[in-house]
Amino acid sequence: MPEGETVIFAAGTLMPVSSPPIRDGAVLVRDGRIAAVGSLAELGREAPDSEVRFFPNYTIVPGAVNAHAHLGFRREDAPEGGTFSGWLAKLIERLPEKEAWTAEAARDSAREALEAGTTYMAESSPYGECLPQLAESGMAGTVYAEFFPGDFDGAAPEEIVESIIGRARGLQAGLPERVDARVSVHSPYTVDPESSRLAARRTRELGWTLAIHLSESPEEVEFVREGTGGLADIFGRNEWRGVGVSPVRYAESIELLAPQTIAAHLATLVSEEDLEILARTGVAAAHCPRSNEFLGCGVSPVPRMMEMGVRVGMGTDGLWSSPSMNLFEETMVAVGLHGLGGATGLELATLGGARALGIAAETGSLEAGKWADLAVVEVAPGTDDPERDVLEAAAGGGVTATVVGGDLRYNRVEG
Ligand SMILES: [Zn+2]
Repeated sequence: MPEGETVIFAAGTLMPVSSPPIRDGAVLVRDGRIAAVGSLAELGREAPDSEVRFFPNYTIVPGAVNAHAHLGFRREDAPEGGTFSGWLAKLIERLPEKEAWTAEAARDSAREALEAGTTYMAESSPYGECLPQLAESGMAGTVYAEFFPGDFDGAAPEEIVESIIGRARGLQAGLPERVDARVSVHSPYTVDPESSRLAARRTRELGWTLAIHLSESPEEVEFVREGTGGLADIFGRNEWRGVGVSPVRYAESIELLAPQTIAAHLATLVSEEDLEILARTGVAAAHCPRSNEFLGCGVSPVPRMMEMGVRVGMGTDGLWSSPSMNLFEETMVAVGLHGLGGATGLELATLGGARALGIAAETGSLEAGKWADLAVVEVAPGTDDPERDVLEAAAGGGVTATVVGGDLRYNRVEG
């Protein structure tokens, strides 16, 4: 939006998430950020010259914060589900042909997410390949560049890690203000312990967050613990397999777990001891229940994590393991799976994700000082759980407009 101008976004109901809902509520936006939150009448008096976009029969919520996704997959080419290692083997087999359409898939996935009310996207892709499409989507976000030491021709871990950090830095040049490039240590079975440890240390020194996949599948647990199973069939050359402990304990031992780290999935056999490690190290979790179900990975102990103070956000994962990029739809599945109330669900989808990604001071709720990131949702007359009604509506295609940093990036009604 043009500098110095103000705009008011208002709706029949405004749900700031960090404070109670407001009837005929509004946010006053200046230079992309929220200057004030209140009733439309109040804010209209405060800034009488503002342009007003009023959606009387709708609800405004914070935009969805997707804490773990992959943009570069095309829905129609998805391998069947079943076992995680079977799926991964097919994924690897299809990588050469996938290259031809990755950019188009990333553009479509990003568009789908934006049109479902997503305003912040944490994306992981090999060497950050989906960064251009995220940057041009209008969403804010971070691309986590995955690296695979096997691609580096026997180079030393120091060299590999400096190379991927240099790449992330290079990608950073010329990006929109709210798009970043960071590093991902893909998983315990694709990145060796020394490269993992160095990447974690170096990125923390830079003040960067780090994305990882952790304890996603039964095969990963078996691979780390025993060194056998479906992943050993694929990655048998990895000499560090079979270390006799859980993936969470292993990740802690190689210094991957810290408040800057976002661990996706944590779906399989996460024990009470693992949970204590997660809580103690301050690592955040990205919960992807639809992907976990599709790949037979189990159910992440999310209520227990939240009880123990682990920061939890929601992630859609990518279209090869999940039916949509709609984070509110993902969240409705979590609500059903864990018996959560609507308010908890709405918080997980928004502020929870922002906390997990370390950006809660910037987005995730409608509060003065944060970016004006919001979704306008058409909600059917409701039940006694209004937050659940909004989630359900947004899950089912009810998002009619998406605003990122005060800019209307998607709008199919006239507000
Ligand atoms: Zn993933």
